[in-house]
Amino acid sequence: MDPKEAAAGRIDALGASLIELSHAVHSTPELAYEEHRSSAALAAALQDLGFAVERGIGGLPTAFRADAGHRGPRVLICAEYDALPDIGHACGHNIIGASAVGAGAALAPLADDLEMRVTVLGTPAEEQGGGKCELIEAGAFDDADVAMMVHPGPHEIVDMPTLAVAHLDVTFHGRESHASAYPELGRNALDALTISYAAIAALRQHIRPEERIHGIVTHGGDAPNIVPKRTEARYYVRARTMHELHELTERVQRCFEAGALATGCEVEVSHVSKPYDRVRHNPKMASLYDDNLRRLGRAAIPAAAMQRSAGSTDMGNVSEVCPAIHPMMSIESLPAVNHQAAFAAHCVGPAGDRAVLDAAKAMAFTVIDIATTPGALEEIRAGFDAARN
Ligand SMILES: [Zn+2]
Ligand SMILES: [Zn+2]
Repeated sequence: MDPKEAAAGRIDALGASLIELSHAVHSTPELAYEEHRSSAALAAALQDLGFAVERGIGGLPTAFRADAGHRGPRVLICAEYDALPDIGHACGHNIIGASAVGAGAALAPLADDLEMRVTVLGTPAEEQGGGKCELIEAGAFDDADVAMMVHPGPHEIVDMPTLAVAHLDVTFHGRESHASAYPELGRNALDALTISYAAIAALRQHIRPEERIHGIVTHGGDAPNIVPKRTEARYYVRARTMHELHELTERVQRCFEAGALATGCEVEVSHVSKPYDRVRHNPKMASLYDDNLRRLGRAAIPAAAMQRSAGSTDMGNVSEVCPAIHPMMSIESLPAVNHQAAFAAHCVGPAGDRAVLDAAKAMAFTVIDIATTPGALEEIRAGFDAARN
């Protein structure tokens, strides 16, 4: 039997259980590094499907690795399963996790014939923390020849431009005092924060159109009648490349220092986690994936037509260490988009469920093409080397 027909047949046969898995993850949203039930559900499903599963890899309790196949190049399919505070699975990582299991399930019985080894890697903490960055450092990607995942979104787009991002924690230190009786003895850390907030708002007029700076106040003081002695904020800074990110982060740092200087406070800025790099979509892998989308009756729009950047992802760091793709698959959610509560509802709607199966098939078909097309892997490697030089 044609391997793609075999893969599609297996995914369809498992369809109900894959969708059930997606809904189960969706119904128990867990934040970064706390995805105990979600990672357990995905790892158990892969074990039942015959994978050799190792839990808690790289020192991360909610990371896992599931291996199938005995010889040949290794494809690594990344599963994500963390959710967002308050709005749950509003980025659809339930679909990412279930489709990774589906692709793995389709490929495992074919792996030895295809002479490909297949790994489904459970990668926690994409929304904050950067589980893939930690797994890269722990060596989890060392034996990967290619890596891929599919992310749900409002549009079908194979090579969505993404941004590099730095995650900053900012703390202002002032001096407390009675806010009414002895205000002249206080140094107001909330004033320092709001002046910084306004300075960053002014900075936005004079940055590149793709760049983004956005933040929240995470601690604004303790009581209205105490001059705030300590305030805290968390800011994300995004730019097209790591170099431009570094330059922009320095300008944002000046804004924090301005707030501290004006109010007689001190400021501390630290990186919450490793910066995420932009995704370098491997051209050959992207073109194989695009062809398989068409076979599934889906049509991707060109990245240039979007005329905007998406967010950022730790898959960008993966694309620095091995050839990778990170396509966005439409779940027909408009006007709802990622990180809106209405988007979370679409992630278990009919189009969201269809995306679980289609993403699994598109990834499985792409792996089959890589395995069976003479010269494909060489072309993928050449494209990876060219992007790095
Ligand atoms: Zn996401
Ligand atoms: Zn997200």
